[in-house]
Amino acid sequence: MTTTLHAASALFTASTGAEPTGLWSAPGRVNLIGEHTDYNDGFVLPFAIPHRTVAAVGPRDDGRIRVASTFADAPVEVALDELDDLFPTPTGDAPRVPEWAAYPLGVAWALRRAGVTGHGVDIAITSDVPVGAGLSSSAAIEGATASALNDLWAAGLDRTALARIGRTAENEAVGAPTGIMDQMASMLGEPDAAIFLDCRSLEAEPVPVGVVEAGLAILVIDTRVAHAHSTGGYRERRASCELGARTLGVASLRDVSVDDLDRARELLDDVTFRRVRHVVTENQRVLDTVRTLRAQGARGIGDLLVASHASMRDDFEISVPELDTAVDAALAAGAIGARMTGGGFGGAAIALIERDAEAAVTDAVRAAFSASVFADPEVFTVTPSAGARRDA
Ligand code: ADP
Ligand code: MG
Repeated sequence: MTTTLHAASALFTASTGAEPTGLWSAPGRVNLIGEHTDYNDGFVLPFAIPHRTVAAVGPRDDGRIRVASTFADAPVEVALDELDDLFPTPTGDAPRVPEWAAYPLGVAWALRRAGVTGHGVDIAITSDVPVGAGLSSSAAIEGATASALNDLWAAGLDRTALARIGRTAENEAVGAPTGIMDQMASMLGEPDAAIFLDCRSLEAEPVPVGVVEAGLAILVIDTRVAHAHSTGGYRERRASCELGARTLGVASLRDVSVDDLDRARELLDDVTFRRVRHVVTENQRVLDTVRTLRAQGARGIGDLLVASHASMRDDFEISVPELDTAVDAALAAGAIGARMTGGGFGGAAIALIERDAEAAVTDAVRAAFSASVFADPEVFTVTPSAGARRDA
C-alpha cells in the first residue's frame, strides 16, 4: 500500500513537476456471495480487499483535466468543458478516449452532470488491484477519482452518492453495463466486515465476518483468465433476467421468491428459467449467509458458497473450466467452501479455508491447474478492509 502511495506521488511529480495536493485511494473487492443479483435489485455481500488504487491529484489553472496511469503509456488530457462532447458513449460503441481513461474522465463527467465541478486537475493513478481478475479494479479507480474530486471540488457528496457517480461513469462513459455492487463495496468497505447491500434501496449494513477469530482465511485464486464486462456474456445474462422479469410480470427478479419457481418453470423457456432460478436462489443464499454469519460465524457458510458456485456453473452458465478446477481442487484439499466470485467468464474464485491449510490448499490448486495445462494461477489471502479514503 505504502509503495502504491509513493508511486502515485512520484508519477504525479514526473508528469507535472509539482507535488500533489493529496492522495486518495479506494480498494478492490471480493464478493462473498450474491452474484448477478445487483442489477436484479437483489442482495449482495461483498467486502473491500487490502489491494487499492491510489489517485494523486492537484489543481491546474487552465480548466483542463489530465489523467496519467502507470498502466498506460501516455496521459490523456481534455478540457473539462469538452467532457460533454465525449460522453455518454453510445451503447455498443467504444469510448472516444482510450478505454482506461474513460473511467477517471467519466467520473469527472458524471460529477459535472450531477451539478458538481471546479478547477482543472492533474490526476496520477497507480494500483495494486489485479486488473480484469473480477476483483473490481474498475470500482477502485472510480472510487479513488470520485473521492479526490469530491474533496477538491468541495462537493460534499456522501459515499453512496459517490458510488452512484462511479457506476454512471462505468455504465455511460465506459459503456460497461454493470450494477452498483462494486462501487458500494469499494466506497463503504470496513475492516473485518462484509457489506450486506440491498441493491433496490441501497441500504447497506456491515456484517462482521470474523474470519480471523475463527482461525480461518479467505483465499483468492486469480485464474488469470481475463474477463471483459463490456462484451458478450454479461449483456446476454442481463437480457435473460429482463426477459424473465417481464414474462413473470414483475419489475425485477428481486420480486420473485423461491416458492414462485414452480410457476416460473411453466411460463419460461428452459434457458430463461435456469437464469431466473440462479438469481432467485442466489438472493435467498445471501439472506441465509447473513443469518448464518450472525448466528454461527464464518465456519457455517461453506455449503452456501458451494451451492452458489453450482448455481453459477449449471444454471447461470458463467463459470469456465479454470474456475471449476479452482473450486473443486480447493474443496478436495479441505476448504470449508469455495465459489467463483465476480461477473464470471474468467476472473477469480475464493475459498474459505482453515488458516493453517493455506499452503496445502494453494499447492493442491496449483497442481490441479498444472495437470489441466492451465496457466499458473495467482493465489493469495485477503481480509475485509477499509473503503475509500484520503491517505495524505
Ligand atoms: P475488473 O474491475 O474486474 O478489474 P474491469 O474490466 O471491470 O475488470 O475493469 C478493468 C479496466 O479498468 C482496465 O482494463 C482498465 O481500463 C481500467 N483500470 C483499472 N485500474 C486501472 C488503473 N490503475 N489504471 C488505468 N486503468 C485502470
Ligand atoms: Mg469491474
